[in-house]
Amino acid sequence: MIRMSAVDKYFGSLHVLREIDLEVPRGQVVVVLGPSGSGKSTLCRAINRLEPINSGRIEIDGVPLPAEGRALAELRADVGMVFQQFNLFAHKTILENVTLGPVKVRKQSKDAARDTALQLLERVGIANQAEKYPAQLSGGQQQRVAIARALAMKPKVMLFDEPTSALDPEMVNEVLDVMTDLAAEGMTMLVVTHEMGFARRAAHRVLFMADGEVVEDAEPDAFFDHPKSDRAKDFLGKIL
Ligand code: ATP
Ligand code: MG
Repeated sequence: MIRMSAVDKYFGSLHVLREIDLEVPRGQVVVVLGPSGSGKSTLCRAINRLEPINSGRIEIDGVPLPAEGRALAELRADVGMVFQQFNLFAHKTILENVTLGPVKVRKQSKDAARDTALQLLERVGIANQAEKYPAQLSGGQQQRVAIARALAMKPKVMLFDEPTSALDPEMVNEVLDVMTDLAAEGMTMLVVTHEMGFARRAAHRVLFMADGEVVEDAEPDAFFDHPKSDRAKDFLGKIL
């Protein structure tokens, strides 16, 4: 599970995360919504320390986030992250992209990593592309590789930051379907997305962020049907 207590983050004088308290229990799927600049990406990036925080505390499964070194590398391996841009290694095959982390960080044998990778590629529907390079795949396929690559590390939690925002519309669902399956299998997930259908279908909770604060924290139906704050009403009015 993820726990954040009184987390503050500044960029210079800009207060981007304000005293964030947040718990995502094991197996829960939390969707984070909010206007541009509200701090959603920073929140995700703080959880695996891609962004250092100024104060507060972050724990993964009860272990405080280490500041650096080997302990940080191990903790990062427990936190899978999928970004808007797929960030695959362009000069490695799909299979190599998925096996690299397990071999280097998890010290798996190449054979074991390959078996797992092929199973995961099968699960996200692209086992037949294993020997290709990222540029030979569609955006939706590349994003499914990125998910398989994160899962190959056997993460305790998965973070998604607008995983479908860079995709052509016809590819959005193939990625959301993989995420919906993952949610149904009990993965602990924090998902920043503007896909309201996914939020309603797969999320246990919706967090609405504005100006670095969590303004609402509710079950999806309650949030979408009866938003409480003016900021959430305004936001939903613009996107729905
Ligand atoms: P979007 O929906 O556009 O992705 P977001 O909710 O993810 O927005 P963040 O990217 O977390 O927002 O940014 C929060 C605030 O922090 C914004 O005002 C942004 O300009 C600022 N910010 C983000 N990254 C940096 C950085 N590296 N240096 C300075 N300011 C930053
Ligand atoms: Mg963002």
